[in-house]
Amino acid sequence: MTKTRTKKFGRGANRCKRCGRKRGLVRKYGIYLCRQCFRETAMELGFKKYW
Ligand SMILES: [Zn+2]
Repeated sequence: MTKTRTKKFGRGANRCKRCGRKRGLVRKYGIYLCRQCFRETAMELGFKKYW
């Protein structure tokens, strides 16, 4: 019997791609970033108008 291991950072774990934070995660536009990183990245990508 092979039990599926639950990885700490598996699919279900929602962490910020940039800094790995869990809090205040933004999943808009399919990006997984915390609010802070999202804001910074959004500006870099030109999402400013949507913010
Ligand atoms: Zn972050």
